[in-house]
Amino acid sequence: MLRFDCKCSFNRMLGALKLLGEAELQDMIEKDDGAEATCQFCAEVYKASGNEIAQLIRDLRTESGLDAL
Ligand SMILES: [Zn+2]
Repeated sequence: MLRFDCKCSFNRMLGALKLLGEAELQDMIEKDDGAEATCQFCAEVYKASGNEIAQLIRDLRTESGLDAL
């Protein structure tokens, strides 16, 4: 299969997952202990572990300032 110049990366995929919000991410951890995402452009498959999803949730909380409570 020919690979064209796709700009996707694991970090970019994590960024997209983060947009789903904390509740959705929590759901992924509970149901699948992680997440799998396929790039719609180059079909590269990225897998995030439960720990990585949990880190995203921590990031979201930090960004929204809830850690300050
Ligand atoms: Zn891609």
